Amino acid sequence: MKKINIAIDGPAGAGKSTVAKIVADRLTYLYIDTGAMYRALTYLAISSGVNPEDGVKLKELLDASSIQLEVTEKGTDVYVNNKIVTEDIRSSEVTNLVSIIASHREIRETMVQLQQGMAEQGGAVMDGRDIGTHVLPDAEVKIFLTASVEERARRRHEENLAKGRESDLYILQQEIQRRDELDMNREVAPLEKAKDAIEVNTTSISIDGVVERILEIVKERA
Ligand code: C5P
Repeated sequence: MKKINIAIDGPAGAGKSTVAKIVADRLTYLYIDTGAMYRALTYLAISSGVNPEDGVKLKELLDASSIQLEVTEKGTDVYVNNKIVTEDIRSSEVTNLVSIIASHREIRETMVQLQQGMAEQGGAVMDGRDIGTHVLPDAEVKIFLTASVEERARRRHEENLAKGRESDLYILQQEIQRRDELDMNREVAPLEKAKDAIEVNTTSISIDGVVERILEIVKERA
């Protein structure tokens, strides 16, 4: 079967990374978590004291740094200048700043180029916010995953508890809502469903159900 590219977009906590990772494993495709790249830059900005509003300084920081993704059995390990930051980039400090950092045009231009390079050969399952609309506009399969904000906050809460992280359901819901607003209303490549994307509402479908649905679509298109 021909190796195609699969774009999976949607708001925070809709199940994108879980679903994308399983789909990639099932197809022996490469899973690319683009959110982790914006999170890695946010981590770098915090640790280097760069103002999150300063796009020019952030771009200098990005150009001077290396961000690497390494797919593991569980998900993705992230390295910033060869230091592993997989857990650090999930902190609430990073989560609450990442959408500001991701709003800068100069940052998005560089990130998009890096991401397009990763999917050049086909065989990528890439998740994010602008994959179907900007990063891989020619992807053969585009999925837009959604779920109610209550359900998305509940999932994050359970994931946090399972990983032994501190978690407050009410705060999580507010943070998710705020991040959605920033991601949907930014000027550059806002979060939106590509015209040719298939919307899958995951509120009451199991992960397996969503994966099977996507694999069926892939079979039709590949
Ligand atoms: O997917 P995740 O929740 O880890 O993404 C973190 C943040 O990175 C998003 O809220 C968004 O601001 C930004 N992002 C983006 N474009 C992408 C992926 C993530 O702007 N393709």
